[in-house]
Amino acid sequence: MTDARDAVLVLNAGSSSLKYQVVVPGTAEVLAKGLVERIGEDGGPDGAGVPDHGAAMSVVTDQLADAGLDLGRTGLRAVGHRVVHGGPDFSDPVLVDDAVVADIRDLVPLAPLHNPGALAGIEAARAAFDIPQVAVFDTAFFTSLPPAASTYALPEDIRTQHRVRRYGFHGTSHRYVSRAAADLLGRPLESFQQVVLHLGNGCSASAIAGGVAADTSMGLTPLEGLVMGTRSGDVDPAVFTFLHEQVGMSVAEIDTMLNKRSGLKGLAGVNDFREVLARADAGDGDARLAFDVYVHRLRHYVGAYTAVLGGLDVLVFTAGVGENAPRLRAAVVETLGRLGLSVDPERNEAPSHEARVVSPDGSPVTVLVVPTNEELEIARQTATLLDTRHD
Ligand code: AMP
Repeated sequence: MTDARDAVLVLNAGSSSLKYQVVVPGTAEVLAKGLVERIGEDGGPDGAGVPDHGAAMSVVTDQLADAGLDLGRTGLRAVGHRVVHGGPDFSDPVLVDDAVVADIRDLVPLAPLHNPGALAGIEAARAAFDIPQVAVFDTAFFTSLPPAASTYALPEDIRTQHRVRRYGFHGTSHRYVSRAAADLLGRPLESFQQVVLHLGNGCSASAIAGGVAADTSMGLTPLEGLVMGTRSGDVDPAVFTFLHEQVGMSVAEIDTMLNKRSGLKGLAGVNDFREVLARADAGDGDARLAFDVYVHRLRHYVGAYTAVLGGLDVLVFTAGVGENAPRLRAAVVETLGRLGLSVDPERNEAPSHEARVVSPDGSPVTVLVVPTNEELEIARQTATLLDTRHD
């Protein structure tokens, strides 16, 4: 039987799904992982659903026992919860107590699609496990943004009373990847400026100065910025008014359109990047346009963030598309040669799941591919908090 006493159960709870991993922070060993779906579908038509997060947590416990992790006997060190929105104040992981739960609840209006699921996961895990629970926030890495980057040019009451500002998301990934880049290069994190492109179903860019976030593309919500699988990224905000007033679409319809029917899906009819590439190769003009719009937006941000940082040392690609699509990486840097960016075709195309350099030796800007690992980062942050806790 595996001894899980050093391991952290990392939970990523959505409103209808619960993803979990049991990770040993020191060694990065994954002892078990899984996904419970269709939460809230009591039984479901085929009996596959579970009624609530409490029932989902029992499924997790059963699956862990099947994987040889008898929690009753060996115990776990802690539970680490991914929480999407930590607002302006949660700049570090926190030990969950009733006050923290209330604070996360207070942030629900800012993240109505995400924080309720995380809260349900936290409450179910607190009921199921009598071990420390730590909340790790997706926004935390970006609480360092300077006011010039985090402030929208909006009236004072909107900014302060309604907390409308740039928060940034995917922070756990950007933090992990930026540190892994320093490890790979053997350089102190403080000594260089980097841009990280997290390109998965959701996509975000960050500008990181000496390890500290200086700018990021997602804003009040994870809708702003890059072109994503189903999200538009940047559009003129007046599109909203136009569609409401001139076309008669409701607020809910426009919101759904921008979040679920736009991005690659809106342009090419599919949100999976592999399919966009396959269709473009087969001569589909819509897929070609989708690829071009996606690449154009990325170049836009790399150039802008190079300016924000006053120069760039390292560009990092991560997540599903960033890690696995050499053609995309080559296309992004193709027009950025005068900014010092290029890739070596052989390095760029060599299949690998390791962190690696893909630019030629001696390039002014080093281009990296770094696999992200949000679960490991959450496990590490959870363990670090417990190690440094004085009680
Ligand atoms: P993630 O959200 O990080 O899991 O990334 C999902 C995205 O990565 C999807 O759009 C996938 O199509 C894309 N992806 C995964 N593998 C590949 C690949 N080999 N080539 C291109 N895109 C990929």
